[in-house]
Amino acid sequence: MNKHWNNKIILITGAGSGIGRALAQLFAGEGAQLILTDIKADGLAETTESVASSVLLSKQADVSSLEDWRMLVQEIEQGPGHIDVLVNNAGMAPFGYFDETSEALFNKVMDVNFNGVVNGCREMLPLLEKAERGLIVNVASIFGLIAVPACSSYHASKFAVRGFTEALKQDLMFQKKSVDVVCVMPGGIKTNIANFAESDSADARDFAKHFASVALTSPEKAAKVIEKGMRNNTFRILIGPDAKVVDWLYKLLPTSYYRITNPLLGIRKILG
Ligand code: NAD
Repeated sequence: MNKHWNNKIILITGAGSGIGRALAQLFAGEGAQLILTDIKADGLAETTESVASSVLLSKQADVSSLEDWRMLVQEIEQGPGHIDVLVNNAGMAPFGYFDETSEALFNKVMDVNFNGVVNGCREMLPLLEKAERGLIVNVASIFGLIAVPACSSYHASKFAVRGFTEALKQDLMFQKKSVDVVCVMPGGIKTNIANFAESDSADARDFAKHFASVALTSPEKAAKVIEKGMRNNTFRILIGPDAKVVDWLYKLLPTSYYRITNPLLGIRKILG
């Protein structure tokens, strides 16, 4: 066991599935004390049961709700009084062209994927500052660096998470606050994200099938890469060979990468 996380208090959002669940299980094995949240009670209960002895608090909460964040802050203040790590992981990925996506769905994606992260950082920062050294882990995506068609709300939210995270890191550095910030940029991870997708597009089922065939990395492997990046305070944590190739292609072809990434990701297969 790596002593780094022993007894550290780690809050993970979206802990009821995929990457969040794998992180909870990994950190439980490392002796951390967990605060787990998810909007879905059933997934959260399953994760909580699987790591029960490490769970300090398990709470159904919506990251886009300030009220839910403030309730969590209150419970933490009345309990341990601080957290060491905040992992802003919860997210959703709808599919469909911009003009097929309702205003309500577009705004919901921004509320969950982007405002959810900002809310978490704002509300939890005082509790992170009470730790010996706090750490914020914001899960963006390689789709916060490049874009593909039919995912405009997802890209808008993830580009925003990356921009916010890069700015926040520098704010905290300049303010000499004792809180580090890292940004996670996964490529395709084999989770339920496409199956859970809310969508206004008729092609959403094809998207889920296609996603399952191109996602290369398991959530457990993703959790290992994230843990290592957190331990080393790696600012941009790229996950999977696809993320590394895309990161490199973007540097090489910043305005025409899509001529290569779209065929590489098989976009034509779903969009025709
Ligand atoms: P997942 O769907 O398996 O898990 C996401 C979890 O977030 C679910 O349990 C869901 O209930 C929860 N959630 C959704 N909306 C929420 C809300 N409003 N409040 C609280 N919880 C909410 O997906 P995942 O792949 O594990 O995704 C985790 C993060 O990784 C997301 O931010 C996603 O955008 C990002 N990501 C995933 C991939 C991938 O290929 N799977 C790639 C890049 C980035």
